[in-house]
Amino acid sequence: MGKHTLPEMPYPYDALEPHLDARTMEIHHTKHHQAYTDKLNAALEACPAEIRDRDVEAILSGIGGVPDAQRGAVNFNGGGYDNHRLFWAGMKPGGGGEPGGALADAIGASFGGFAEFKQKFSSTTAVIQGSGWGWLAYSPSSGKVEYRSMPNQTSPRTEGLVPLLGCDVWEHAYYLKYQNRRPDYISAWWNVVDWDEVDARLARAR
Ligand code: MN
Repeated sequence: MGKHTLPEMPYPYDALEPHLDARTMEIHHTKHHQAYTDKLNAALEACPAEIRDRDVEAILSGIGGVPDAQRGAVNFNGGGYDNHRLFWAGMKPGGGGEPGGALADAIGASFGGFAEFKQKFSSTTAVIQGSGWGWLAYSPSSGKVEYRSMPNQTSPRTEGLVPLLGCDVWEHAYYLKYQNRRPDYISAWWNVVDWDEVDARLARAR
């Protein structure tokens, strides 16, 4: 029995309709996120206690310290576990619009404005090759927010960044409703972003 458990969804599976469909949400949570959770636990059982006993954020931030034999599995499944937690909690019914306050200021400082940020995030995430995530992340070293495309389930934490907002562009996130139309899925996803949650993550990261 591993220590990580699948987090409960903060809203019903159909709450983000019509943007994200209920069937996709249910499979994504109960099958995909569950699998990352189980495989993270399995990989950690093969790790020394000093690694196993850390929280997942610390494990990912210090991925280089994970033994060679487990590093790939911990990177993939630990990232999958953490990324999806952030994904569910970063959305809400009736979300969307634009951020305010400190988050709006940080986005303005890095991208020139919200419209410019949204355009860059959408267009760059749409062309990620294969499976991956688009992220808005905070860099503690620069004190700024930045965009990152990450492959597969690799977390921005592995690059010393704090993930603030992620868009999952694995086909499992959108194929039932959008098939090959990834840009349409990304456009719809903006309508459910919970900017208050993203702003709170920035405040904690600072
Ligand atoms: Mn996913």
